[in-house]
Amino acid sequence: MQIQDYVSAGKIASEVRENARKKYHVGSTLFEICESIEREIRQKGGNCAFPVNTSLNDIAAHYTAEPNDATVVKDSDLLKIDLGVQINGFIADTAVTVCYDPSYDYLVQAAESALKDAISIIHAGTKSSDVGKRIETTVKDMGGVPIANLSGHSLEQYTIHAGKSVPNIWSAGSFSFQSTEAYACEPFVTTRDGLGFVREGKVRNIFSLATRKRSKDDEANKMVDFIWKNFNMLPFALRWMVSEWDEKTARLLLAKLVQEKIVRSYPILVEANNQRVAQAEHTFIPQDNGVIVTTI
Ligand code: MN
Ligand code: MN
Repeated sequence: MQIQDYVSAGKIASEVRENARKKYHVGSTLFEICESIEREIRQKGGNCAFPVNTSLNDIAAHYTAEPNDATVVKDSDLLKIDLGVQINGFIADTAVTVCYDPSYDYLVQAAESALKDAISIIHAGTKSSDVGKRIETTVKDMGGVPIANLSGHSLEQYTIHAGKSVPNIWSAGSFSFQSTEAYACEPFVTTRDGLGFVREGKVRNIFSLATRKRSKDDEANKMVDFIWKNFNMLPFALRWMVSEWDEKTARLLLAKLVQEKIVRSYPILVEANNQRVAQAEHTFIPQDNGVIVTTI
């Protein structure tokens, strides 16, 4: 494990996240927000580990801007900005929720507090079920409901979801955190009117290579080569293709690759009772007496 690359990626991710937290986003389009955050990551010497996610209100996760996405942030919105930086494939995954409606601020505070409390109890050997229990307790004490079917995850080089789930509620199956592995913890919180789980929505605008199998179409194969060279097996967006192909062609080629199961597409995840959702996230490496939070 390259601790130095994890730490360098984390430093960039945390600076970019704090700038995003401070900025007033009302009136900006999701396209402008995604592009400016991704530009900042690159200017600081990082690579994007995945397209910046800008999920609004009841969309909990997995929405990124379409090319020229005209959706404008309103002062009644709750916006989750989830960003990833990678250096040599070692990833920092972190998120912040910005909210301009004071009546939903408690959701943001609950996600932040649950993340802080969870991280405070983790060291090498801590059981994941204890972390889930801690998150659930903090969230409920603060008047929210945790999203049960969204979780944090272990990370590996060029792999965001490396197999282990860091739960947001008490759950039976458990693993022990190891100092040889990096993890992301990411509580998602909804209101008491929420069902506390997400369902898949119709929109799919985040993709990743599923296999290096060849397509029958030559131009589609050029796209596969472009994806592999630039993003490896990490997620990407259509926005990242339009420098090479015009938007219409890129859409057609991508649809073909999805149909051939060479590329996977990820649906947006929406709160099951359409209640608003807040999120907070850090990446960390457990140690014998605590954790190194790379995105602090
Ligand atoms: Mn994330
Ligand atoms: Mn994550």
